[in-house]
Amino acid sequence: MADDVRPPAWVPVPAASSAAARRRMQATRGRDTAPELALRRELHRRRLRYRVDMPVVPDLRRCADVVFPRARLAVFVDGCFWHGCPQHATSAKSNAAFWAAKIAANQARDADTGRRLREVGWTVVRIWEHDTAEAAADHVHSVLRRIAEAGTAADLFP
Ligand SMILES: [Zn+2]
Repeated sequence: MADDVRPPAWVPVPAASSAAARRRMQATRGRDTAPELALRRELHRRRLRYRVDMPVVPDLRRCADVVFPRARLAVFVDGCFWHGCPQHATSAKSNAAFWAAKIAANQARDADTGRRLREVGWTVVRIWEHDTAEAAADHVHSVLRRIAEAGTAADLFP
């Protein structure tokens, strides 16, 4: 997901205080992260066709990482650190308040994005970067099947 790396205006931006923090900041460039690429490769291998980095709702300037337009399924691949994965998000030791605020803002935005997409009939799947590409693709695949079975995108599967 194309993260906006700027914190809210009221949060003072600390200098990247360690190599790890610098790596995290660099790693949030947004598109084509390794987990996204792995998921896309796995989906492609299963002959599922999708769009990439697509703005799903016109007035919502947030791109989903993988989009199935006909099924109206938006997939977001969330970085464990940036989106507050319960397993991996607790590693920031320095500037803890800064990162906590940043992550809380991301989570609020994620929830808002999901709400707004569901309001207009989309299905939203969020994948953690720690998920294996295979498990993530299994999840996406099963959701696609459910959507197809519900009759809204019955022509998705040959
Ligand atoms: Zn994680």
